[in-house]
Amino acid sequence: MKRILITGAAGFLGSHLCDKFIEKGFHVIAMDNLITGDLKNIEHLFPLENFEFHHHDVSKFVHIAGNLDYILHFASPASPIDYLKIPIQTLKVGSLGTHNLLGLAKEKDARLLIASTSEVYGDPLVHPQTEEYYGNVNPIGPRGVYDEAKRFQEAITMAYHTFHGVDTRIVRIFNTYGPRMRLNDGRVIPAFIGQALRGEDLTVFGDGSQTRSFCYVDDQVEGIYRLLMSGYHLPVNIGNPNEISISEFAEEIISLTGTTQKVIYKELPVDDPMQRQPDITKAKNLLDWEPKVGREEGLKITYEYFKSLDENTLYKQAHKSFEKYMK
Ligand code: UDP
Repeated sequence: MKRILITGAAGFLGSHLCDKFIEKGFHVIAMDNLITGDLKNIEHLFPLENFEFHHHDVSKFVHIAGNLDYILHFASPASPIDYLKIPIQTLKVGSLGTHNLLGLAKEKDARLLIASTSEVYGDPLVHPQTEEYYGNVNPIGPRGVYDEAKRFQEAITMAYHTFHGVDTRIVRIFNTYGPRMRLNDGRVIPAFIGQALRGEDLTVFGDGSQTRSFCYVDDQVEGIYRLLMSGYHLPVNIGNPNEISISEFAEEIISLTGTTQKVIYKELPVDDPMQRQPDITKAKNLLDWEPKVGREEGLKITYEYFKSLDENTLYKQAHKSFEKYMK
């Protein structure tokens, strides 16, 4: 049985990756420090023999007994609100955490895939974004702690690949959504759906003309799986190229949820990218991958998930900070 370590395993993407690799017959070693992750996302896996959980912060030395075939590094705060609350941890998990996992991959002769992001392109001046674009990032803005940690992560991963011959993969993840997103992570999809369910107005930042392209989680996970199994070590964009403005998107959520609330406009956060759309030519050619789930279908499933949450989660946790869990 192949053994895979997944960091950030209790998070949104990490937990779906745990499901995927369990389904594929792997022994999954899940790791999370639970600052932004939630054990509820993986508790259904605890009874399985081929699943184990380690409560650990990967910014500190990582030890795994026995052999390892693969490592997926998905530990990181991943929303602008999170980086504002825990900027130092965001920098550390992308830099020190990645360094530790590269060391582990080298020691165990394991293949390591790191989760990079469309944020490496910053507020892009090239549209759609190809992997060759170097980006337009403000290193000292509020998003700098995430963007620069992820850029450093790519750099150190390439250095370990070139200098130490470590077998590495780099996925650049564009906006992804689905069940198990956190209601209080500030991202636009949980924000809008949560607001609709609580009977609050939908908060569009700026004039809503900024665009995003949303990928359903099952498509994202399939793309990551194919990249891990491929022989390609340079970065690959995985995302859904179907682009929409945030104000049009708010209208879609209004008709999906049937809310009678209205859209209200708030100030645009600093360095909020004006447009974002992945060029997925590489993923299509190299991995024979493209997204299959359209926004209408994916949003319906996501809406059902948020609707199924209990009142405590929907009302109290939506506005709760996780800072009290920090040391
Ligand atoms: N956004 C918004 N209202 C909200 C939350 C987000 O209009 O309540 C906007 C945000 O300013 C950004 C877009 O939606 O332009 C996507 O935001 P998200 O945080 O989901 O992801 P990112 O900006 O990192 O792509």
